[in-house]
Amino acid sequence: MARLFEARFYEARPDGSVVCTLCPHDCHIPEGGRGACGVRYNRGGRLYTLVYDRVIAREVNPIEKKPFFHFLPGSYAYSISTVGCSLRCAYCQNWEISQWPKEHLPKHVASGAADRAVCPRLEALQGEVPGEYVTPETIVAAALASGCQSVSYTFTEPTIFYELAYDTAVLARERGLKNNFVTNGYINPEPLREIATVLDAANVDLKFFSEESYRRVSRARLAPILEAIRLYHALGVWVEVTTLVVPGLNDSEAELTAIAEFICSVSPAIPWHVSRFYPAWHMLDRPITEVSSLRRAREIGLKAGLKYVYEGNIPGEGGENTYCPRCRHLLIERYGFHVRQNRIRDGRCPDCGETIDGVGMSGTGPAA
Ligand code: SF4
Repeated sequence: MARLFEARFYEARPDGSVVCTLCPHDCHIPEGGRGACGVRYNRGGRLYTLVYDRVIAREVNPIEKKPFFHFLPGSYAYSISTVGCSLRCAYCQNWEISQWPKEHLPKHVASGAADRAVCPRLEALQGEVPGEYVTPETIVAAALASGCQSVSYTFTEPTIFYELAYDTAVLARERGLKNNFVTNGYINPEPLREIATVLDAANVDLKFFSEESYRRVSRARLAPILEAIRLYHALGVWVEVTTLVVPGLNDSEAELTAIAEFICSVSPAIPWHVSRFYPAWHMLDRPITEVSSLRRAREIGLKAGLKYVYEGNIPGEGGENTYCPRCRHLLIERYGFHVRQNRIRDGRCPDCGETIDGVGMSGTGPAA
């Protein structure tokens, strides 16, 4: 039985409109309208989430797929998402589900001029949103039954299904599971502070180091994302950062250096994943990222002072391995999403004793 769920983090206005304060868009939503994510809806001066019980994807993934390389390496994450996203990145790799509400919304709802004759009840509107009826209890039980060590809120933007993520994360933690966000970082400080109380890790996309690029390509702003990265880290959430390196868009030495230096200013222990771009959705006119370009990005990250930089989406090239930042010996050998060997013992390099940053980093068995 589907359940109507009032959204959190909004302000009601006397004229019946609401301001959603969940993410930095701070959408001003008139009666009958939805926010920019397409899944938060003003009905009668109250804001509702349309996706609390509408899970579009749930599956077991290696944690390395998120990617997390310094958070329970070699483990599995029960991975869930709903449709919707706060951003509209032209090259989104998951656009079929992230942009679903914006691609399928009735125009009268998108504009806020809801036609009560067409959408007379919130339940009917919610029924338009695709997804399986799943509760936090179902998700946590399935995660435990499948042997996962964490629940991952991923594929689209977890901030826009905040209420489901939060309730699930509370329950998951009670049952001994960890929680992680794979996020675009577009979240306001207050909800971030609250989700951080039940979040163990966040992989934040840092797509550009340019306000203009964020505005033009993703319809967002850079500054709040930098602030979110700082805040997650300051609150003790384990942070990793991912940058999809897009030829001709964000692959200049200056921009990659600026990204690396920013991450380093937060902490040199934050792993940086520089990943290969594949043409997708509205960005089909650019080539796949050259391996040499990722290698150069990795060198830029290491030169900036980062301890761990990884080349993503190019299995078998060696850029996915973890090396000791002091003695440079191989610690974790990976192929794609799979860990072939993990030599870390008691959180340290077995060769020089250096502490290796992360959560649950140690392997099992003899240090090969
Ligand atoms: S969560 Fe959705 S409705 Fe709320 S401010 Fe962000 S885009 Fe707008």
